[in-house]
Amino acid sequence: MSVFADDVVNFTSVLKLAHDFFGREYLKRKKFRERKKLVSVALPFSDLIFAAGAVPVFPIRMEKFKINKYLIALDSAKNLFGWDITTKLLGYARQFDFLKLIDSILDDVINTLNEKYNALYDLGIESGISTDFCYGIKSLFGMHVSKGKNVDANFNVAIRCSAFNKYLETLKNLVPKQIWIDIPPRIVGNQNETLEIFTENISKAISELEELTGNIITDNSLNKQFRIGNQVKRYYKTILYEISNSDFYPCNPATFAEILALMGITFQDFNSNAQVYLENVSQLVNEMRERIKKNIGMDVSKMPRILVTPVFGGWDPKTQEILYKLGGRTIYADWEILGLLDEINVSKNSNPVEEYAKYLLNASTNGIGCDNDTLTDSYVRIAKKLNVDGLIFNQLFGCHSISNCYNMLRQKVRNTLEIPSTVINFNKIGEGIEQLETRLNAFMEMFP
Ligand code: SF4
Repeated sequence: MSVFADDVVNFTSVLKLAHDFFGREYLKRKKFRERKKLVSVALPFSDLIFAAGAVPVFPIRMEKFKINKYLIALDSAKNLFGWDITTKLLGYARQFDFLKLIDSILDDVINTLNEKYNALYDLGIESGISTDFCYGIKSLFGMHVSKGKNVDANFNVAIRCSAFNKYLETLKNLVPKQIWIDIPPRIVGNQNETLEIFTENISKAISELEELTGNIITDNSLNKQFRIGNQVKRYYKTILYEISNSDFYPCNPATFAEILALMGITFQDFNSNAQVYLENVSQLVNEMRERIKKNIGMDVSKMPRILVTPVFGGWDPKTQEILYKLGGRTIYADWEILGLLDEINVSKNSNPVEEYAKYLLNASTNGIGCDNDTLTDSYVRIAKKLNVDGLIFNQLFGCHSISNCYNMLRQKVRNTLEIPSTVINFNKIGEGIEQLETRLNAFMEMFP
C-alpha cells in the first residue's frame, strides 16, 4: 500500500489538486465549447495569459492517463454530491474496499505521472532533441511533440539558461506562435534603464496576447490577476514557512513532500483556473491547520528537515520516500528560491506593467541571478529562512547552467549555515535508485 494513501483519502483539497491536475476534459471544454485560446507554459509565468482571458497549460496535463477511470468516477461523484461528501464517501467505502482500489488512487496518480514524464522524455529524444539536454528540456520537448498541435501559442520568459533558450528556438517548429518576454542582456548597471527595457518587452508580449485572444488586457484585469496570484503565493509560503516548520504534521512527511511537489508542478499553470486554484490552496491551508489542531497527522519533531533543490528541471520523486524511511522530512521550495513567490505590488496608482517588470527583474537579479554566486546566495538565504537542518543539491545530467554550482554552494553552506549538505545525480526517473539510496543513507547518518 502507498505510504501516502492513508493520509490523503480524507484530505479533500489534496484530492482536488490532484484531480484538477488531470485537466484534459476541462481543457477540451475551454478550447472547443468556449473557444478559448490555450497557451503552453513551462515555468510559473501564467499571469499575463490569465489576464488576457486565455488558458495557460503545462502541456503534460493534456495527456491521457491510465488512471482516468478512477478520476472519472471521482469526477462523477463530486458532480453529484460535491467534494466534501465525495471524500467522506471515499473514506467510508475504503473500509469495504478489499481490492484496495481506493488506497491506490494517489499512488497511481504519482506513478502514472512519472511514467508519462519518462515516456515524453523518450518521445523528445526520438523526435530529435539533443541527448545532451537536461531531463526537463527533453520531456518538455516531448510534451510539445505530443500535444503541441492543441495549443494556440507558447509563452515564455527567456531565462539565463542558454540550453533552455535554444530549446525555445526549436519549439517554433512545433508551435509556430511564440510569445516571449526577453530579459534585457546582462542585468547590471543602470537599473532604471533595465526596468524600462523590461517594461517595453512586457508591453510587447501583452500586445501579442491581445492579438491572439482578441481581448484587451486592462490595468484592472492585470491587477485582478496579480491579486489572485499574490494570495496563492501567501498560502504557498504559509505551507513552506509555518506548517513545514511545525513539530506536528497534518499527514506523514512523505505525503507532505508529495503535496509540496504537487504545488510546485501546479503553480506553473495554476491548473488553468486561477480562481479555483486559489480556493483549493486556501482550503489546503485550512485543512492542514484543522488537522494539526485535532491531532490528525504525525509527530515529526525528531525528524530533520531536508531541503532538496533544484527539482523543477526533473528529479526522482523516490527521494522523498527514501528520506522518509531514513527518518527525514523533505522540503521542496524551488519557486521561493528563484524569487517567484514574491508578491507583485497592486497598490493604488501603481502601474501594473511596470510592477510586473519589477517582479521579473527581482527574480532575474536576486533569485536565479546572472551568475552562480547570486544563485548560490539564493539557496543559502532561503535554506536559512526555512530553517532547514540539511541541504541536498540535485545535480541534473545535461545541465550546465545551474547544476554546476554545487562546489561553491557546499562551501557557502559550510561557512554560513553549518548544516550537512550533499549532492545527488539525476538523469531519468527510476534510474540509479541504488546509488540514490546509498547517497541518502550516508547523508542521513550525519544526523543524530
Ligand atoms: S535544469 Fe539546467 S539545463 Fe535544464 S532548463 Fe534548467 S537551467 Fe537549463
